[in-house]
Amino acid sequence: MREPVTACIALGANLGDARYTVMQAIKYIDHISGCSVMATSRLYRTAPWQAQGPDFVNAVVRIETHLTAPELLQALQALELAAGRERPYVNAPRTLDLDILLYGAGRIDSPELTVPHPRMMQRAFVLYPLADVWPDFVQLKDLQRVQDQPISRLD
Ligand code: ADP
Ligand code: MG
Repeated sequence: MREPVTACIALGANLGDARYTVMQAIKYIDHISGCSVMATSRLYRTAPWQAQGPDFVNAVVRIETHLTAPELLQALQALELAAGRERPYVNAPRTLDLDILLYGAGRIDSPELTVPHPRMMQRAFVLYPLADVWPDFVQLKDLQRVQDQPISRLD
């Protein structure tokens, strides 16, 4: 079997019991065949940004995976569906959103998948939890750039 790849996944939820949904999703990611969660960020609360509805609960996990990036996306989308995700319109409130931030050093630009995630460096709700699981990746100036976006720790 080929070497596992380190990947980071952003989790977000703002419908229903968002905190519970995010915590369950972290467990389910660890249960995906060929994926192991190596580090879990703290949980954060953020106001919707370019989205609607109640506040979000956000987290990031760092995983090791034997799946290819498209296989990983497929597995994550199955978890979104299982959590009751619907997409009535762009940026609608969501029970669960799972985005691949990084997949090793890979750069992917296909219709289904863009990695690294194109908007990750502009989002406090990604950068703060990402810094928890991969401190070397996020620099102080990256956090300073998003300091106008309110974010607080949940736990
Ligand atoms: P968003 O996360 O931007 O709010 P969705 O979760 O509805 O929107 O995802 C829309 C599409 O984005 C997905 O069907 C997926 O194919 C695509 N996509 C592109 N790049 C990524 C990525 N890095 N992680 C997850 N989905 C991605
Ligand atoms: Mg998404």
